[in-house]
Amino acid sequence: MQVRFWGTRGSIAVPGPTTVRFGGNTSCVEMRTAAGELFIFDSGTGIRALGQALLAAGGPVRGHILLSHTHWDHIQGFPFFAPAFVAGNEFTIYAGRDLDRDLESVLAGQMEYTYFPVRLADMGATVHFRDLDEGEYAIGGARVQVQYLNHTSLTMGYRVQADDRVLVYATDTEPHDRTPRPLDRRGQALWPVHEGDRRFVEFIRGADLLITDAQYLAEEFPQKLGWGHSSVEHAVDFAVAAQVRRLALFHHDPGRTDEGVATLLARAQARAARQGGGLEILAAAEGLTLTI
Ligand SMILES: [Zn+2]
Ligand SMILES: [Zn+2]
Repeated sequence: MQVRFWGTRGSIAVPGPTTVRFGGNTSCVEMRTAAGELFIFDSGTGIRALGQALLAAGGPVRGHILLSHTHWDHIQGFPFFAPAFVAGNEFTIYAGRDLDRDLESVLAGQMEYTYFPVRLADMGATVHFRDLDEGEYAIGGARVQVQYLNHTSLTMGYRVQADDRVLVYATDTEPHDRTPRPLDRRGQALWPVHEGDRRFVEFIRGADLLITDAQYLAEEFPQKLGWGHSSVEHAVDFAVAAQVRRLALFHHDPGRTDEGVATLLARAQARAARQGGGLEILAAAEGLTLTI
């Protein structure tokens, strides 16, 4: 499968001279299976450029849009996703089942005339909506496992198995244990301690690529408790414990410059190297394409 990052930022888009290298657009990741099925994880502002690329490639566009949740930084690009305005194109949008509101009305809400000139219902393409619960689904020829994450609103992580590879997209999640702990070299670590964190580690176990929340540094984390995000140290320790192959640090803090992200990445790599096991770590960057 092929993975391409179109938006790597968390919270709010921050274009400018200090975010050129890792990107200023909010969350959007494209994945293509060998059979050509299109998966899009989140529709932050990065989805606009993805839409342009899909139209430039020509032909009808069909795809599966899997939303982690409906915070603005994960949906705000959708009204600017040009393929959704073209009749004949077809998309299915998936998100966690919210008992209070249905997905269509949440997405239509940000396109009411007060906010946007075109209504969701008038976009042109055929758009289906599908609520997901925790569990396993067959989507686009892939096996998709869905698990709740620990965020401030209903948020889903996706574990997608296709082409004999596993991609996990799990962003906007806060570890339960406040202190990250490197794997105990003496053998089976007692990490993670909290049942919720153990569940997360099982969910990401053995992934060929894990794209996950690494918004904070460990020293910033105590001031951000309850905001629903992870420290990079937690992300590394979970990935090592789960024997993940490749870790993409994602959902960069809007206040983090390119230099800051590079420093965060170097710290993550040093921490993983000390624990052994050969975890490869990269910082997600807009335009970066990976083959897994
Ligand atoms: Zn977010
Ligand atoms: Zn969020």
